[in-house]
Amino acid sequence: MAEISVLAEGYVLSLEGGGLKASPSPVLIEDAGTRILVDPGADRKGLLCGLSRKGLHPEDVEMIFVTHTHLDHILNLRLFPETDVCDSSFIYRGDEEIPYGKLIPRTGVEVVPTPGHCPDHASLLVPVDGEIWLVAGDLFWWRDDAVQKTDIGSLMALEDESASDLRALRTSRMTALARANVVIPGHGKLFRPDRRSLSGLQ
Ligand SMILES: [Zn+2]
Ligand SMILES: [Zn+2]
Repeated sequence: MAEISVLAEGYVLSLEGGGLKASPSPVLIEDAGTRILVDPGADRKGLLCGLSRKGLHPEDVEMIFVTHTHLDHILNLRLFPETDVCDSSFIYRGDEEIPYGKLIPRTGVEVVPTPGHCPDHASLLVPVDGEIWLVAGDLFWWRDDAVQKTDIGSLMALEDESASDLRALRTSRMTALARANVVIPGHGKLFRPDRRSLSGLQ
């Protein structure tokens, strides 16, 4: 059984004069003695404060999982020069690319391809205290000035201005929501989808 925590809440703000200020929620998963950081983000201070609240330093992280390679999700990789990084297909160790299966090695954390926001997007399903937590990445995300509606209909209809494939995004959302009790979105607040309304949509 894993432990999971959101180290800092992800955000997307508009900058005066154009542009964005954005960083996703970095998530720490500890399972079977392995410490995984998901999406280190771009907010250096938020990440380091979140780790230090856990009594941890960057070198205490054993593996980093990236949901996708938009730069706001990965700029902080530079704080972890020696740490293995993985996506849904490979573990990157220096210049080596090592394939692995459906689970992050030595853990019960399941990797699920969730294309749509971008073609190589993936999310994680983490068993925690008898429930399944979805570390969604940008499968779901909100700007800070948006109202975060989390009934299933609103989640399925949620617009993604950066999506590369809306049909794939919808399928990925349906697949992931069918299994998740708790969802950590890329940017926004953790939520519990209302699973009772799920059956009507399938
Ligand atoms: Zn993204
Ligand atoms: Zn994002």
